Amino acid sequence: MGLAALIPGDIDCGGLRLSSLELAAVTKAYGDAIAVNCIDHIFRSGTYSCLLGPSGCGKSSTLRMIAGHELATEGDIILGGRNITDLPPAQRGTAMMFQSYALFPHLSVVDNVAFSLKMKGVDKPTRRTRAMELLELVDMTGFSDRLPSQLSGGQQQRVALARALITEPEMLLLDEPLSALDPFLRIRMRLELKKLQRELGISFIHVTHSQDEALALADDIVVMNKAVIEQSGPPQEVFNKPRSEFVARFIGGHNVIEGPAGLMAVRMDRVSLTPQRAGEAPEFAAVVRDIEFLGTTVNVALEAAAAKELVAAIPDSVFFRTPIQIGEAVSLSWDPSDAHLLAAPAA
Ligand code: ADP
Ligand code: MG
Repeated sequence: MGLAALIPGDIDCGGLRLSSLELAAVTKAYGDAIAVNCIDHIFRSGTYSCLLGPSGCGKSSTLRMIAGHELATEGDIILGGRNITDLPPAQRGTAMMFQSYALFPHLSVVDNVAFSLKMKGVDKPTRRTRAMELLELVDMTGFSDRLPSQLSGGQQQRVALARALITEPEMLLLDEPLSALDPFLRIRMRLELKKLQRELGISFIHVTHSQDEALALADDIVVMNKAVIEQSGPPQEVFNKPRSEFVARFIGGHNVIEGPAGLMAVRMDRVSLTPQRAGEAPEFAAVVRDIEFLGTTVNVALEAAAAKELVAAIPDSVFFRTPIQIGEAVSLSWDPSDAHLLAAPAA
């Protein structure tokens, strides 16, 4: 019996049917290659989840199995108490927005959005009305008669969103939806996606390799590495208590230091520096290798016996009070509560 049996699959929330999604021992093999290796996870209903990990770790394969565009080799996928593992995509209650948006180039914006209703045999006036409502939701009402080629990347993305949402999914699946946008637009669309999820109250699962994106967007982050889930939890928990060296390095902002009890993680912005005085034998000595001014902080790259690469992120006001030079010997310190042990990597 899966974990889903232990939690309520369907939560009635003011008439809205909200459904959690459970992956139970889900595996995807392509021939001999295991892309997803027996993963278990519950995506809570009505939440924004980010599947985060480096390229090739199995994020898209996981999403495609949830969408039904790829069959699970083993395991079960349960949405709102329904086993959807082998259902065709249209019968799952999920909708997918692809990385390339995949709009039909020869159809107008409104016809693109209405397409799935046409397939279902909904009459033209009804599907156009509904499509216009969805275009209003994504702020694209004025563009209904254009062709996709007459839209910017951000506008195409809104249309793709409207097209996915017209099927009234319980869960929206997004594979790297922001990666084709320039950095400025990416941050704006990120806010809009989050707002849309809050307004609709349905679950979003968003695949990304960007830790910033995941931290900014997610209620829950699921960190994947080499076909397995390394850690999952709210952003603050994953950021403040990375469980493994992989998560500490991938989520960023941490130093990984060899200590007496094993590897430990220390947040870069919790490390303080003081110049070494002659005759002093500091507990943690290091040499300054590089200094980078990043605006609000100055990142000081250091070399020490316990770690070849260390960074102290010093607030600019603190750094410039007593600037430190490249080549200088310094003494490092941090509050013990800002360091925590990392789990040894699985054999
Ligand atoms: P991610 O989205 O995290 O980059 P993918 O799920 O796309 O990762 O891929 C995981 C692994 O599975 C990779 O090694 C990739 O090369 C492989 N893979 C993905 N799709 C296929 C496929 N259709 N056939 C064979 N191998 C695939
Ligand atoms: Mg991918």
